[in-house]
Amino acid sequence: MAIKEPPEEPEPDEVEDGAGEADEVNWKILWQTNCPPKIRIFLCRIMHNILPTNVNLAKKMEDRLVKDCPYCGMEETIHHRFLECQWSLRMWQSSLWCDRYNYADGESMEKWLNHVITTANPDTAGGISSLLWLLWNERNNRQLNGERLDEAVIAQKA
Ligand SMILES: [Zn+2]
Repeated sequence: MAIKEPPEEPEPDEVEDGAGEADEVNWKILWQTNCPPKIRIFLCRIMHNILPTNVNLAKKMEDRLVKDCPYCGMEETIHHRFLECQWSLRMWQSSLWCDRYNYADGESMEKWLNHVITTANPDTAGGISSLLWLLWNERNNRQLNGERLDEAVIAQKA
C-alpha cells in the first residue's frame, strides 16, 4: 500500500486504547530527529495512531475484518507491530538496542517513542527511527508480496 498522504489528526474516538496516556508528545524534538523527513512523517503517524496496521485498517474498512499480524496471527496494533511481535523482537535482538531502548512491559507505543526521542542522543534516536521504518517496510513487503528478509539483515541496515 502506498503511504504518501500526510499525517492527519485522528478523531478522539479513533484513538486506540493506550493512546492518550503518553506524556505530552514533544513534536518539536520529534521533528528534529536525526533521520530523513519521510521517516519523521512516519514517526508522526505512529504517534497519531494512524499507521495502517491491520487493526487500524479494519476500523476504517467495514468489509475488511482481518486484523491479524502477517507474522504471528495476533491482532496487529502499532504496539504489537513494533514492540511485542516475536518477529519484531528477533529484529530488535539483532540490533544495537536489544532491550528496545529500555522498553517497559506494557508501556504504550506513544509513551515509549516519546521517551526515545526526548532522552536518546541524536544518533541513537535516528538509528531507532530508521529501524522502525525498515521494520515497517519489511512488514509491508511481507503483507503485500509474501517476501521476507532475514531479521539480522534488516537490523544491520538501521
Ligand atoms: Zn506479530
